Amino acid sequence: MKLTAKVKLLPTDEQRELLLQTMEAANQAANYVSDVAWQQKTFGRVPVHRLTYYAVREQFGLSAQMAVRVIGKVVDAYTSQTCPVCGCVDKRNRPAQSVFSCVGCGYAGLADHIAALNIQRRAVVNLPNVGAAWQLLTSPRL
Ligand SMILES: [Zn+2]
Repeated sequence: MKLTAKVKLLPTDEQRELLLQTMEAANQAANYVSDVAWQQKTFGRVPVHRLTYYAVREQFGLSAQMAVRVIGKVVDAYTSQTCPVCGCVDKRNRPAQSVFSCVGCGYAGLADHIAALNIQRRAVVNLPNVGAAWQLLTSPRL
């Protein structure tokens, strides 16, 4: 059984101000991460994380968890604009909501399918390191 609780926060004026400051810092950090990604022409989760994590923590005063979430949100925003064939990232790759058409190489298809391909590739890169347990699970049974 799944239960859902609806919760409304009732912050004090001081807590409200701190929450607003954190949200503004997170938004500024996201703009910074996006700028770095475009400058370096790299949009993968790991390279963008390597390029920006420490700067995000130090310059914007965010916790480790917030820094990781900010970087993830920025990287995810480019998933549907990235060509799985040539790697071109461009807003113009999405001429319509459901259409993907690469301005770099001409590869075209359904936008949801293209985004799924990009997410699948990320998942392959980010496989958990389970060592011998994985071999045990995937080896043929005797
Ligand atoms: Zn392309």
